[in-house]
Amino acid sequence: YAAKQRNDGAVAYDAAMDKSSAKSLSLLTELRNAIERDEFRLHVQPKIRLDTGEVVGVESLVRWAHPERGNVFPDEFIPFAEQTGFIRVLTGWVLDQSAALCSDLQRQGIHLKISVNLSTRDLLDQDLPAKFKEILTRHQLAAGSFCLEITESAIMDDPVRAQLTLERLHAMGVDLSIDDFGTGYSSLAYLKRLPVDELKIDKSFVLNMENDIGDTKIVRSTIDLGHNMGLRVVAEGIETEAVWRLLAALGCDQGQGYFMSRPIAADKLVGWIAAWTPPARSALPYSDTVG
Ligand code: C2E
Ligand code: MG
Ligand code: MG
Ligand code: MG
Repeated sequence: YAAKQRNDGAVAYDAAMDKSSAKSLSLLTELRNAIERDEFRLHVQPKIRLDTGEVVGVESLVRWAHPERGNVFPDEFIPFAEQTGFIRVLTGWVLDQSAALCSDLQRQGIHLKISVNLSTRDLLDQDLPAKFKEILTRHQLAAGSFCLEITESAIMDDPVRAQLTLERLHAMGVDLSIDDFGTGYSSLAYLKRLPVDELKIDKSFVLNMENDIGDTKIVRSTIDLGHNMGLRVVAEGIETEAVWRLLAALGCDQGQGYFMSRPIAADKLVGWIAAWTPPARSALPYSDTVG
């Protein structure tokens, strides 16, 4: 890559850029403009307790309201933002917006933990804990209002530095979560070493688990592993009530998925919570569904 990371987190370009960088440079310019023109949108997806149906948190998921292309999903620009270092700017924006939402909810008497995704670059950013602290202070929030999600591959990129950043963040009181668990190349040893609070089972194991005995076995083992390590276990990708029931019966603590809600614009959250009715309480915790 022609992009070089400067110490201040900005991106500088070599004079000798490769051919493909003309396009990359214009995308980077577009991303920078997007921040200035306020084109990013905070969407949130509710996190639900599977035994009671209670809303306990939300995950922040960023979208880009592109003037020509419409709603652009993160898979289309997050990888590029990571490669160029722009992700640090974006992460700062997402943390700030998430904090604003969280304190706004608190003023309305709604107390939710807000989850934010971090990338590899964020974990290597020595200034992240200080930036995070500044955001907490400005919005008058406790660190415990936040959960930071990191993937196995982001940790394995530079385990030593990642551990240092994570320890500093955890010491502030923030929750840490391993996202997309089971999909990365990683060692289970970090589960023991890192100050982790939550394990998130990747949706690829969850989406079709009612019809796939292999997926069910993986999910069951992952829930047990997490619990044996003293961690909260969350499943993503719950699209049907049947999968909710199965996960609840397996003892999974929390879940997210289209069955409960797709990610929605942050300003729609209070209305969604008011309208949310979990499956009948009498049917919980669904312990009849697994033999
Ligand atoms: P993730 O953190 O694993 O987020 C879960 C993804 O699964 C989200 O996709 C969500 O919309 C989707 N999902 C949730 N429930 C269901 C379901 O029931 N069925 C299906 N098929 N999908 C479901 P999304 O919003 O497109 O985000 C994709 C990825 O982009 C995220 O995966 C995360 O890695 C990354 N991302 C999103 N926002 C941010 C951000 O602010 N910062 C960083 N660094 N990464 C982000
Ligand atoms: Mg996530
Ligand atoms: Mg995930
Ligand atoms: Mg994912």
